[in-house]
Amino acid sequence: MSVSVVLFTCDLRLHDHPPLRAAVDSAPEVVPVFVLDRAVTDAGFGAPNRMAFLADCLADLDAGLRERGGRLVVRVGDVVEQVREVVDAADADEVHMAGDVSAYAIRRERRLRAALEAAGRRLFVHDTVTTAVAPGALTPAGADHFSVFTPYFRHWSQEFLRNPVPAPRAVRVPEGVASAPLPARQDVAGTSPGLAAGGETEGRRRTAAWLRGGLAAYEDRHDDLPGDATSRLSPHLHFGTLSPVELVHRARRHGGAGAEAFVRQLAWRDFHRQVLAARPAASSADYRTRHDSWRTAESAAQDIAAWKEGRTGYPVVDAAMRQLVHEGWMHNRGRLLTASFLTKTLYVDWRVGARHFLDLLVDGDVANNQLNWQWTAGTGTDTRPNRVLNPVRQALRYDPDGSYVRRWVPELRGLDGPAVHQPWKLPGLERARYDYPDPIVELPDGLARFRHARGQD
Ligand code: FAD
Repeated sequence: MSVSVVLFTCDLRLHDHPPLRAAVDSAPEVVPVFVLDRAVTDAGFGAPNRMAFLADCLADLDAGLRERGGRLVVRVGDVVEQVREVVDAADADEVHMAGDVSAYAIRRERRLRAALEAAGRRLFVHDTVTTAVAPGALTPAGADHFSVFTPYFRHWSQEFLRNPVPAPRAVRVPEGVASAPLPARQDVAGTSPGLAAGGETEGRRRTAAWLRGGLAAYEDRHDDLPGDATSRLSPHLHFGTLSPVELVHRARRHGGAGAEAFVRQLAWRDFHRQVLAARPAASSADYRTRHDSWRTAESAAQDIAAWKEGRTGYPVVDAAMRQLVHEGWMHNRGRLLTASFLTKTLYVDWRVGARHFLDLLVDGDVANNQLNWQWTAGTGTDTRPNRVLNPVRQALRYDPDGSYVRRWVPELRGLDGPAVHQPWKLPGLERARYDYPDPIVELPDGLARFRHARGQD
């Protein structure tokens, strides 16, 4: 009897999963496999928040497969060796998996294909599993990828999206394929206390609630820091417990300005993926060098420590950095202004900040994180690379009454907006009541240093 293997990576779901569908359609028996890949966890990508979220996703995937008569096979080690062993144990003919864009994922696919072909088996790689539009599907005349979002988005919006694929009703798994135990969320130490729950069931529940209750106001409220009015679907998109194709279809069905603005953000995700697919080195090297001589982890150690700990003396920066530690997630406006503060006001290498975010973010994602950091640092795809966000003006605009700051910086709870955003301006005696640091840098000094470094003075 013929057997197919489906290898899950960053696509931990049963709904709208073309590789699973193809595997089920091509053979009466299917082995669903996830490999806890040592190359990924040992390279620093096994941050506790993501490992805990991953454990939820695998438990939910296994439960969903069991409801359909199957189970998830979990293996630990090198992904190519493990898949080869599973293929041999099940005497499988073919392996199905989703395409991915990082340098590591491309190497993995190449190695896996070679190993399977050497054994007379076939690898099928499916696109539009982790993106709505496949990386490389859209290219401008004379170039291999879009380097500016607006023209990319114009093309992306007109692209035909395939229909979502239903989850299979039954998955029959052959006997005799050994599985390691599922990792358990409670075994992961060092997670953020406010970490969200993972898994496809939770992702679909959140999506339904979001489409019903949040989407319509998204355009007006997505920058409202205390309002927290974005979808918070990013970890689900990162782990693939949600399908981007299905999400775009569902949002578009709701229609309206909120849906349009939300779908535009999903296009940003695809945009960064097509950049990384074409320029894998952009995960660690400047996409467009500005010849920076950044301050480094050594030369700016104290400033970096203050930034990480949320005690820079700029309340909105500190609030956002503390949200990151507490939840393993940060509002997009917070990410923008904390990244601008580190790279431009403190003039610290964007890689230092990107690493810290990857250590904590539950949605930490090479394409989105590294390229958004580059965008903010002005070494990426931003067409205004020298713009600097002023944290006080940002705070007054996006947290006018100060409730976001008061939520995360309890030392300042006695103050209202706008005073809460500039405690250093309080008269001496009143200032002394608040146990909160003075700014580690004056904004004009930071701006002058950055402009000088970029030859803008
Ligand atoms: P929503 O506003 O509800 O948006 C819906 C979805 O669109 C998000 O879940 C996300 O998948 C996508 N999206 C939104 N904004 C962007 C964007 N600027 N670029 C790409 N995709 C976007 N996002 C990550 O998923 N992982 C990261 O590691 C990450 N690191 C970032 C680092 C910096 C410095 C900055 C400025 C942004 C980063 N982002 C990252 C993008 C964005 O901040 C988050 O996707 C968003 O805040 C997640 O919240 P949400 O799901 O409520 O977003």
